[in-house]
Amino acid sequence: MKEGLLIIISGPSGVGKDTVFKELNKRLPDLRKSISVTTRPMREGEINGRDYIFVERKRFEQMIAENRFLEWASVHANYYGTPADEVMRLRGEGRDVVLVIDVQGAEKVAGAVSDALTIFLVPPSRAELVRRLTERGTENRQAIERRLIEADREIAVSSAYDYIIVNDVMDKTVSELAEIIQNESRRRKRDDEEC
Ligand code: 5GP
Repeated sequence: MKEGLLIIISGPSGVGKDTVFKELNKRLPDLRKSISVTTRPMREGEINGRDYIFVERKRFEQMIAENRFLEWASVHANYYGTPADEVMRLRGEGRDVVLVIDVQGAEKVAGAVSDALTIFLVPPSRAELVRRLTERGTENRQAIERRLIEADREIAVSSAYDYIIVNDVMDKTVSELAEIIQNESRRRKRDDEEC
């Protein structure tokens, strides 16, 4: 069976990656999101195993030592990682897998998986990013400041991605993403047939 695509959706914290993915998944229901492992505290409304797999730092470090991650990174003072076995299993079943991860993680995966499709979401402006981070209400002022400094650094490396999408109007962002993924899928099918 043909291996599924590995699609990375990245961009600064607060740009709306998770919301965009949820909407995208409604249009392309066959896509599978990789559930990350994290040491950050669970937020209200989150469910262990659905939003993240929440673990203690010691467990996460043990998983690093056991080589269980396709990539992992320390983001905003917490660990986050993509479990390798699940991604490989899903791709092996021919499923297209989406990683919604930060820029450090995206860089690591793109270095290790040469055919990964990389997409970077940018906010329409810095002011809008500030507004989204503040309105989300999940971080205190200091954490928001930290995320904004990191956002500037992250946006500076966005040209390394296959595609950059400005996440202004959700519907438009999702349409663009769906089109990119469908085109890539068709292109690879054509290439395989020609081989
Ligand atoms: P949050 O704590 O707001 O859910 O996520 C913080 C940041 O970590 C976001 O940019 C999110 O995309 C990123 N992130 C989530 N899971 C992973 C992962 O498995 N690996 C990496 N490198 N970043 C992740």
